[in-house]
Amino acid sequence: MKIICVGRNYAAHIEELENERPEHPVLFIKPDTSILQKKQPFFLPHFTDDVHHEVEVMVKIDRIGKHIESKFAPKYYSKIGLGIDFTARSLQDELRTKGLPWEKAKAFDGSALVGDLFSKENFSDVNQLSFSLEKNGTVVQQANTAQMLWKIDDLIAYCSQFFTLKIGDILFTGTPSGVGSVSEGDLLKGYLESNEAFTVKIK
Ligand code: ZN
Repeated sequence: MKIICVGRNYAAHIEELENERPEHPVLFIKPDTSILQKKQPFFLPHFTDDVHHEVEVMVKIDRIGKHIESKFAPKYYSKIGLGIDFTARSLQDELRTKGLPWEKAKAFDGSALVGDLFSKENFSDVNQLSFSLEKNGTVVQQANTAQMLWKIDDLIAYCSQFFTLKIGDILFTGTPSGVGSVSEGDLLKGYLESNEAFTVKIK
C-alpha cells in the first residue's frame, strides 16, 4: 500500500509557510514503512531535532481505480479519519531550496500517524468536518474540511490521473495552519468532530 499526501491545501497554512498558492494539488508519497503503528510513541529521528506536526484528515481507499471522475470518487472510500504527517521541517526547507525531492523530510520511518478511521456514514457531509489537534492539552491546530482548496473527491480524481489507487491506500488531504514543532515528552491528541482519533506520545 501507499500513502498519497497532499501539500498546500489550506490557504492559511500556505501563508504561514510563505509558500505560493499552487495551480494544482501538490502531491507526494510516503511508503508503507512510514506508518507509525497505533498506540506506539513517535520517536524523534536521529537526523534532526526539528519535527513539525501536521494534522490531516485522511481517507482509506477501498476500491481499485484510475482516472476516477470527481462525481464517482465517493464510491472509492467508505472510511474517513485523522492522522499526522510528521515533517522534518528544516530538512524540508533545505531540500526545497535546493530543488530536491522532499522524501527524507516527509517519508521517514514513523512519519505517518494513521489514526482511527470512522465510517463516513457517521457524518452528514465530509466537506463540513471539524478537526483539531491538541498538544499537551492546548489546541494548536483547528480547522474544517470546508476550508480545503481542493475537496476530497477532487483530490481522489486528481491523484488517480497519476497513480492507480489500490485497496488499502491512504490519502492524507493536507494540513491547515498551526503547524509547529514537537519535543520529547509532548502528548498529541487528534479529534475528528467529537471523536478522539489518536493519542501519541513524543519520545
Ligand atoms: Zn502534510
